[in-house]
Amino acid sequence: MKSLQPAPPAVSQMPKAGDVQGSPTAVDVMVPLALPQLLTYLLPYPVPAGTWVEVQVGTKTYNGIATTAPSLLPQKLKQAKVVEDVPALHPTTLAFYRWVARYTLSAPGEPLRVALPKAHIPPLPKTAKAQKALETPWKINEATPPTLNPAQKEAVDLLQAEDTFKTTLLDGVTGSGKTEVYFALLPKLLEAGKQVLILVPEIALTPQWIDRFGARFGVPPLVWHSNLAAGARAATWHRVARGEPVVVLGARSALFLPFQNLGLVVVDEEHDPSYKQGEAFRYHGRDAAIQLARSWGAPAVLASATPSLETFHHAGTGKYQHLILPTRHGGATMPTLRLINLKENKTDARDYLATPLREAMQKRLDDGQQTLLFLNRRGNAPLLLCTSCGTRRDCPNCDATLVVHGDETRCHHCGYREPTPDICPSCESPDMRAYGPGTRSLAQEAQRVFPNARIAVADSDTTGTTGKLAELMNELAEQKIDIIIGTQMLTKGHHLPHLTLVGVIDADMSLAHGDARAAERTYQLLAQVAGRAGRAKLAGEVLIQTFNPTHPLFKALLSGDRDTFYGEELENRKTFGDPPFGRALALQLSGLEDNLTLQAARQLAQSFAHYFPKKEGTPTVLLGPAPALIKKIRNRYRYRLLVKAPAHNHAQILKWIESTPLPKNIRLDIDIDPVSES
Ligand code: ADP
Ligand code: ZN
Ligand code: ZN
Repeated sequence: MKSLQPAPPAVSQMPKAGDVQGSPTAVDVMVPLALPQLLTYLLPYPVPAGTWVEVQVGTKTYNGIATTAPSLLPQKLKQAKVVEDVPALHPTTLAFYRWVARYTLSAPGEPLRVALPKAHIPPLPKTAKAQKALETPWKINEATPPTLNPAQKEAVDLLQAEDTFKTTLLDGVTGSGKTEVYFALLPKLLEAGKQVLILVPEIALTPQWIDRFGARFGVPPLVWHSNLAAGARAATWHRVARGEPVVVLGARSALFLPFQNLGLVVVDEEHDPSYKQGEAFRYHGRDAAIQLARSWGAPAVLASATPSLETFHHAGTGKYQHLILPTRHGGATMPTLRLINLKENKTDARDYLATPLREAMQKRLDDGQQTLLFLNRRGNAPLLLCTSCGTRRDCPNCDATLVVHGDETRCHHCGYREPTPDICPSCESPDMRAYGPGTRSLAQEAQRVFPNARIAVADSDTTGTTGKLAELMNELAEQKIDIIIGTQMLTKGHHLPHLTLVGVIDADMSLAHGDARAAERTYQLLAQVAGRAGRAKLAGEVLIQTFNPTHPLFKALLSGDRDTFYGEELENRKTFGDPPFGRALALQLSGLEDNLTLQAARQLAQSFAHYFPKKEGTPTVLLGPAPALIKKIRNRYRYRLLVKAPAHNHAQILKWIESTPLPKNIRLDIDIDPVSES
């Protein structure tokens, strides 16, 4: 950390770098590091805030952003260089970075860390040809747009009339034409020189989207995500930084691109939990997107068939505009849903396909149609038990069972692996059995039942790369696969005209998660996966296997009455003052020793009352400490405190936390607006 001293007169006596441009100047620089404050450097001449610079921290060089003059000067000033050939960061973008860092109580450099994945401005391509390609404007050449149906047209007209910030929920089932609505907005925005950001939850799911965009606009969108090749990364970053009117399709990290003139932000599948960054810089992509749009005075469009309860609530109160696309485009019908009560349809001990589902699958095979089996757990089996002594194989580092993946057994939390044992490590009996379904064991079962069927698995084990998933999707589209078995990654985006049956193997799994949002999540997941069936001319059917057929979420799914279910869930939240009726903030303490970690958490909890005294009408409450849902991960014990309040009070929270110094080996993670309880 820098030592603070009164400003010495030394600055003006420093050697001048460029006579013409003025004298050396000290500035605070935002660096792409998780440091608690900005760093002060000496620049050869004064520059406007937002100017890109190159600095040294320790032995490494980084790109950073010059902000304002320091209030105090450190004794020794390190020199920094000005990056001359990259346009300065727009003040709105800089303000947005600062806002997100402050709001999430994160280090000021975190947003920049996201904007510069390699801690440097992406280097321009080396070859002349690639450089030239970057000099050519990115320009759309629109094919004839479809004729919009009345609901789409109304939505487009209303959105087009907006030229200031406003958040809109674009609400319609999968296939109702939401994408066409925001596509229709693009040409005018680009013509007006605006930049557009379209966020999607999982970039692995976008090849079809990109093809569709290309077919419609004659050019692929610029993309942005963490696994981008260097050339594509440079192209997107520099085009955006130069202020070119472009469309960026990105994962949540695209929020921090150096926009110069943003005119629209779209958040597709806005309910998706993966918008929330799970560790370190815990921002919520959707919420940050709304703030980004607000800073630019641009509309924010949140699209979903199953909005988050928060968004649904704000659309209901009028805080957000609510635009509804009521039907699937072109009269494609919604699939019919049926529950299979597993209590009445027992399968053989180690099988997971109940008879009604098998029959429905057979019919699809006979008719040359396709089946999707959804099971949100990769691997063979989530549990390995010795049937002689009852020993269970647990991860040595986590409170979690090991999952069998063929010859290997893995922990899904820390990545621990060991060979799958043939004999029990405790009693040496050969009676080790794998229990519970996984995508791989399900595929084996399906192959046994339907020996001639062509079966494929799509999960993060088999389709680790975007290309692999795209390949699989093409094979499906070309009807080279009869049965596709997969996890969550199959639930979105793909248009498969011959897919007419969806089987949900274990609908209870995500319900059993023990999280307050479990019912909402399960509903969203199942509605989404159901949307895969029968999107074209052929009618679709969805069979859901459950032990719990009376759960309200199934009633909502079967009747299609989403809003009643949402209303009930919101009532529950209201009762408990949960978001959107109040705000929450989670603190997680973790340490290598269980007891010390708990003690530290208790201490922090004890000082809470001093900073948030109980008063009439100020129901700020502290819950916990309680062990996290999975108490131990990677050998660290985790305890949580939850603050619930009518509104955030960042300043007071900071005072409270700073008042209670933690033992050095205890780590504290702050999670504003947490969305999960682990
Ligand atoms: P969503 O985004 O709500 O899932 P899409 O915009 O992807 O829906 O539309 C579903 C399908 O219907 C797509 O193949 C799309 O091209 C087509 N479609 C949507 N609206 C129209 C329209 N007005 N005219 C012709 N085709 C349309
Ligand atoms: Zn044993
Ligand atoms: Zn583990």
